[in-house]
Amino acid sequence: MKIIVLKFGGTSVGSLEKIIKVSKIIISYIKKKYKVIVVSSAMSGVTNELLSKTKKIARNFPNDEKDVILSTGEQISCALIAGKLRDLGYMSRSWLGWQLPIITRGNHSSSRIIKIKKNKILNYIKKGGIPIITGFQGVNNDFRITTLDRGGSDTSAILCAKFFKAEKCIIYTDVKGVYTTDPRLTTNAKKINKISYEEMLEMASLGAKVMQPASIQEARLNRIEIDVRSTFSKTTGTTITKKKNIFSNNTIRGISFTKNDAKLTLIGVKDKPGIAASIFKPLYENSINVDMVVQNVSAGGKETDLTFTIKLEDLKKTEKLIKNNIFIKYRKLIINKNVSKVSIVGVGMITTPGITYRMFKALAKKKINIEVISTSEIKISVLIDKKNLKKSVEILHQEFKLNNSL
Ligand code: ADP
Ligand code: ASP
Ligand code: MG
Repeated sequence: MKIIVLKFGGTSVGSLEKIIKVSKIIISYIKKKYKVIVVSSAMSGVTNELLSKTKKIARNFPNDEKDVILSTGEQISCALIAGKLRDLGYMSRSWLGWQLPIITRGNHSSSRIIKIKKNKILNYIKKGGIPIITGFQGVNNDFRITTLDRGGSDTSAILCAKFFKAEKCIIYTDVKGVYTTDPRLTTNAKKINKISYEEMLEMASLGAKVMQPASIQEARLNRIEIDVRSTFSKTTGTTITKKKNIFSNNTIRGISFTKNDAKLTLIGVKDKPGIAASIFKPLYENSINVDMVVQNVSAGGKETDLTFTIKLEDLKKTEKLIKNNIFIKYRKLIINKNVSKVSIVGVGMITTPGITYRMFKALAKKKINIEVISTSEIKISVLIDKKNLKKSVEILHQEFKLNNSL
């Protein structure tokens, strides 16, 4: 049995016309004798609308009920696809996460899929049916509905490919593939033909929304090849695959960025061993993720300035935790919401010296100030003023010759 998993994102099912288009794509694979398993997101904007309702009605809307609401978006799009396919003469039905079931573990709103029960779907496809499975959701051990992190339908699709042993997993989205940088920021962005799991994971984690980071983790662990392509164009997309399959001379493969960071600086912190731990402990206890950190010792050596970044959505909570922290003394807290993190990513960095220098020099030439730096083996990130974002990405794109990407 040749099984293929097709995943459609929010924009791809964003209107009735688009759902008709999606149905035709599904049928084209049936005609090629594939057994098709479809995973769909909610129609674009729907999950956000549902989320805003929970925020309006209660200050602390419970997470378990939030998942019940958020998961309904996928129910609508899946039923519409199944209904249209039946209207076109094909056997199809929607399957909600709990109906398979898709079993998850972990906290509400950020659960992980641990198992997908296969028998119902396998029986159905053997009979010629086309199952349309809701992405982004599952059910936990307490029989409560759960959701994955935002953008989680990608992970649902990849795990369907794993559990149903699909030959292929195709992610249909609103761009023609994975680009060297977000094509909505600059027209210089170039489509990449093949990218490694490692680079895609790094790009996604650093802000490239096209794939959810957790989905790439799963694909890499389970060696599932992914094609990313457009619902609205016939052009071939991007294959996400293992390093061995990639032939590229480019040291840097892509540039990612974020627009939702906040920078906090504590000026004049009394310097003593353990001070950074005292600052970060309450943040950790409140599940606030600290991203970039830099510490400068003052001239006298008795005080230090500590700068770090967090997600903008955690800012209010973080500010409160710092102000209420009796274990630290500092002179001033400065908050900056107008920052962006720009990251260059590429496995070639490991073996090529001088990349950091080239990145900093290119930015300096355009008088772009670097506020914080962080690095790993295959990425360098810098924090800059948000107003310089486009300029920075374009200059780095040019510096690392990403126009020549394959
Ligand atoms: P879907 O609804 O299909 O899941 P998403 O909105 O989650 O789609 O992801 C697609 C979007 O990702 C694109 O519209 C694009 O703006 C954005 N994006 C960010 N970085 C990249 C990149 N490097 N390559 C392609 N798209 C990117
Ligand atoms: N509908 C969900 C979201 O908006 C899941 C997804 O789109 O993948 O996050
Ligand atoms: Mg998405």
